[in-house]
Order: sequence, then C-alpha cells, then structure tokens
Amino acid sequence: MKKAFDIERAVKLISKAVQPYPKAAMFELAEDGFNSPFEQLIACIISIRTYDEVSLPTARKLFAQARTPYKISKLTVKEIDSLIGTSTFHERKAIQIHEIAKRVLAEYDGELPCDSEILLSFSGVGPKCANLTLGIACGQPYISVDIHVHRVTNRWGYVKTSTPEKTMVALEAKLPREHWIDINRLLVPFGKHICTGTLPKCSTCPVLDMCQQVGVTKHR
Ligand code: SF4
Repeated sequence: MKKAFDIERAVKLISKAVQPYPKAAMFELAEDGFNSPFEQLIACIISIRTYDEVSLPTARKLFAQARTPYKISKLTVKEIDSLIGTSTFHERKAIQIHEIAKRVLAEYDGELPCDSEILLSFSGVGPKCANLTLGIACGQPYISVDIHVHRVTNRWGYVKTSTPEKTMVALEAKLPREHWIDINRLLVPFGKHICTGTLPKCSTCPVLDMCQQVGVTKHR
C-alpha cells in the first residue's frame, strides 16, 4: 500500500537526490550571470528540441558575441545562424532571435519586460519558454512544464494529463505556489537521471513509497 503523495516531502527528497547531477540548463545559465529576461528567453529558444549538453554551449557561444538586444540586432540572421548552428531548427530560430532583438529595441527601449503577454507575442515563444523566463529572470511564480515535468508528475499520480500543456494547468491548480519555479529545476535532472523515460530507477528512487508508478511497466 502506497502512502498518500506528500509534495513537501517529495521536494525535499528530490532536491537531495539531484544534487550530484548537472543543473537544468536555464538555471545553470542564470547562475553564471545570464539571468536577464532577454538572455533567458533567447537561451530557452535555443534549447527547444535540443539536448542541454548541446544547447548550453551554443547559448554561451552566442552570448560571447552578443548578449543584449542591441548587439544581437546588429548581427545578421546568417551570423546568428552560424553561431547557433548546433541547435535543432537553428535556421528558423536565428530568424526568430533576430526579430525578437529588433522588436525589444524598437518597442521596449532595449529592455525585455517581464510580461507574459509580451513574451508570448514573439514568434517561437510558447508557454514553456515564457514561463521559464518569468520564473527564473523575473522571479514571478510561473510553472514551466517540459517533457520531464510532465512525465514525472503523471507517474507519481499527482496529475493525470495527456500533454505538457494540460499538466501545466493541472499543476497550477494543485501545486503550492512556493514550488512553481522550482518544480522545473528539480524535475528536469530527476527525469533525466532517475525517473528516466525508459527503465526508471524505481528501486532506488527516494519517492517510491508514495509514487503510484502510473504507466511504468519495467523499471530498474
Ligand atoms: S518510483 Fe519510479 S516512477 Fe516513481 S518517481 Fe521514482 S523513478 Fe519515477
């Protein structure tokens, strides 16, 4: 018989369990000083459909050349494309990044505002990147749900949803606000290294006693 899922206990246990692993990309960049809303948004676009191991050095490479809307707007789309060439869909992303830099300069005096509606108005920016930016760079309570957060919270039985978008809505209704930003920081490394897509490491998982293991047929 499983215990009732205790999110406070889970957060504490998982914080400890993920300590040996690399931080989620956006949190690592923020700790390294790339923590403006503009830098976080651009780094998140670079990370879409791209492994952290690739997107992190790619974002650093772009930022080494240009990290402000002004400097990025002065690059050509081709130059941006060659700097972010290792990122998936880099050609499309280069156009989007250039466009965002130009709009931030023209419409917001070079400072990207911490405003959900404005972030979502940019081509290439969906709820995941908007919310990560608002959470990490702006300190606003937003939940960012990627595939790891979606998979893990559904396996727990904490939510029962079919898409990351629906998970975000379900978590907004259930997860205490103080964990809204941190849930992504914790569950990205947890999902990558412990509650993995295939063969999760249930036998040594710190939350096994309260996880419903929904949909898990084989595990380590
Ligand atoms: S018990 Fe298994 S399914 Fe549940 S969180 Fe841990 S690793 Fe994931």
